[in-house]
Amino acid sequence: MDEVILLKLGEIALKGLNRSVFEELLIKNVRLRLHDLGVFKVWRAQSTIYVKPETTGVDMNEVLERLKTVFGVSALSKAGVVAKDMEQIKAQSITYFEEILPYVHTFKVEAKRSDKTFPMVSPQICAAVGEVLLDAYQNLKVDVNNPDVIINIEIRETAAYIHPNKVQGAGGIPVGASGKAALLISGGIDSPVAGYMMSKRGLSLTAVHFVSPPYTSERARLKVEDLLKKMAAYCGPIHFIVVPFTELQERIKDDCPEDLFTIIMRRFMMRIAEHFAAEAGCGALITGESLGQVASQTIGAIACTDAVCDMPVFRPLIGMDKEEIVTIARKIDTFETSILPYEDCCTVFTPKHPRTRPRLDFVLKAEEHVDWSELIQRAIDGAEHKDIEG
Ligand code: ATP
Ligand code: MG
Repeated sequence: MDEVILLKLGEIALKGLNRSVFEELLIKNVRLRLHDLGVFKVWRAQSTIYVKPETTGVDMNEVLERLKTVFGVSALSKAGVVAKDMEQIKAQSITYFEEILPYVHTFKVEAKRSDKTFPMVSPQICAAVGEVLLDAYQNLKVDVNNPDVIINIEIRETAAYIHPNKVQGAGGIPVGASGKAALLISGGIDSPVAGYMMSKRGLSLTAVHFVSPPYTSERARLKVEDLLKKMAAYCGPIHFIVVPFTELQERIKDDCPEDLFTIIMRRFMMRIAEHFAAEAGCGALITGESLGQVASQTIGAIACTDAVCDMPVFRPLIGMDKEEIVTIARKIDTFETSILPYEDCCTVFTPKHPRTRPRLDFVLKAEEHVDWSELIQRAIDGAEHKDIEG
């Protein structure tokens, strides 16, 4: 029996006139997510997107798993395609669900008939299929209120589709629908989660990572690359920029007050990230800051970092507890990589007593007596670029 994946669209449905643009984007993202698994026909009809393999031997369970991470899909299911003939629907329902039905106690059949020319109405279809399944599986009972499994029979224009309960999709809106943003990514737990969250709102990502060799190792950079690979399952392809930051950090350490080191360093990160963001056509920056988590994440410190940016800075974790962030990190499988113990450039030269309420006028004064432009330019010129696929 042929199989397809049926994708139910989430918030896309609310987008009115933009709807078809969103659907096109979603279809493109679906193709991208599956490109190495075979050739697929992807089309939409009656507010459902259909994904059908055109090559043989495609592992449809793998396809289902992959599509669970595509933003814009609220629910999905793997369905068997059957001719619109009641005898065939009954026979195929018995075999198609043989991996599920022997292992549950109760079930219910739901039928939907969008092809009104089909000779039976929905309650009749439910009764007919229910009857053959009860005959075939002695363990089963009908429970219309709280069944272990719902067997869905959908009679559509071109065929009938039979499938069990839908599983939850990734939600959100299709990546790219909201434009682009640049994520400042460290090797920590927070920034990958921040990138994931903003991608879920339709942003495609450029990632900027600062390194300080020899204080930070090549392994630390590779760790960030691994994080991006995991994120790309959700966020789509990510342009990755690695910026050498040692010279700037050493200069800040030598020429600025120690208690302002962290805040001044963060301001340079923002300046340089904004340069690359503009170059890549991004409209915003993203960081993984959460209010009060560390000294550089107070209102005062955030005000000082924001003061160097023209673009809006999105901080999706700002009101979240670490525990909530960790739950998402585990879900998207970045947590175990994030906790590997490599140095981040933020932990190099950490001041003993960072100022938690930095005043912008003091910070500006502290930066004033150095001409930073050449150092900034060298960092920009020394950056390495790479594209990360899922
Ligand atoms: P994370 O868990 O993301 O490392 P954190 O709680 O450790 O965050 P900080 O080290 O203060 O917080 O960094 C705050 C934010 O600054 C990070 O979430 C990230 O967006 C950005 N950042 C920190 N280090 C780097 C880096 N080496 N390269 C790029 N961005 C960075
Ligand atoms: Mg960190």
